Amino acid sequence: PMGVCPSARMALLRDNFTGLLNPWARPDVLTCTSWGAPIIWDSTFNPAVAQQKALQQNFTIGLTVFAVGRYLEKYLARFLETAEQHFMVGQRVVYYVFTERPAAVPRVALAPGRRLRVERVAREPRWQDVSMQRMRTLHEALGGQLGREAHFVLCMDVDQHFRGAFGPEVLAESVAQLHAWHYHWPRWLLPYERDVRSTAALALGEGDFYYHAAVFGGSVAALRGLTAHCARNLRRDRERGLEARWHDESHLNKFFWLHKPAKVLSPEFCWSPEIGRRAEIRQPRLLWAPKEYALLRD
Ligand code: UDP
Ligand code: MN
Repeated sequence: PMGVCPSARMALLRDNFTGLLNPWARPDVLTCTSWGAPIIWDSTFNPAVAQQKALQQNFTIGLTVFAVGRYLEKYLARFLETAEQHFMVGQRVVYYVFTERPAAVPRVALAPGRRLRVERVAREPRWQDVSMQRMRTLHEALGGQLGREAHFVLCMDVDQHFRGAFGPEVLAESVAQLHAWHYHWPRWLLPYERDVRSTAALALGEGDFYYHAAVFGGSVAALRGLTAHCARNLRRDRERGLEARWHDESHLNKFFWLHKPAKVLSPEFCWSPEIGRRAEIRQPRLLWAPKEYALLRD
């Protein structure tokens, strides 16, 4: 693959040499970005090599999830139960659940080496504000205990559940998720914020991919930068009476345009069953829940 970023390209070659990655295994899909970051699809990575490497380095992996209002009863138990079956199995894991009702968090049996911490957050009146406020809350958590105990952190929506292995092959300095509905769309059609007054705006011709805010991650330092950028720009927009088209996701897309992710996850890592079967989607790892907004949002 051709790359413009020598360090990402070196990392790709190293990972190929050690047997972790084989971007050439899937000629049917794009497996490398223009800046040299791997886009990982089924059979382009070796989960056993990734597992061994992560264990050698004694990683602690954080998984953050917000469950505020009715999202808690509706999704959290299944999210956590299936995470126990598929998320970083065999690694040291710490879940961080953010909710306004800590006492209502379901008690899920955790395997050895895995812990769950509950953090209280205020309940914002609008669902858009719950979603956007995550960036500020995550920024603070990454500056506290979460940041001290984890090496890498994945930040996820709760309205989904695990269906396949989601292991240390996804780990990198910064990780972005291709949006299942948009990965094959022409760039000019992608639903970026287009209002030039917004700090999230991307002009026509800008943007690499459309990334899904339901999954992003990286090292603690990289995520501190990402969440600071997004929280700051969300605030600046709000101060001027603006709200980007897809809220925090619009700001995340702006961030990843300016700061290219070190690894990109194919849509099988966060797949929508409503799309139906696609030849290139071999093993979905997370599945979106149906969007039952009438039940969840006021
Ligand atoms: N969320 C929540 N309570 C709310 C709204 C949002 O807990 O009232 C959290 C939850 O983790 C959810 C995420 O914010 O998955 C993003 O919101 P949502 O999934 O509704 O957005 P969409 O995926 O539809 O864009
Ligand atoms: Mn969601």
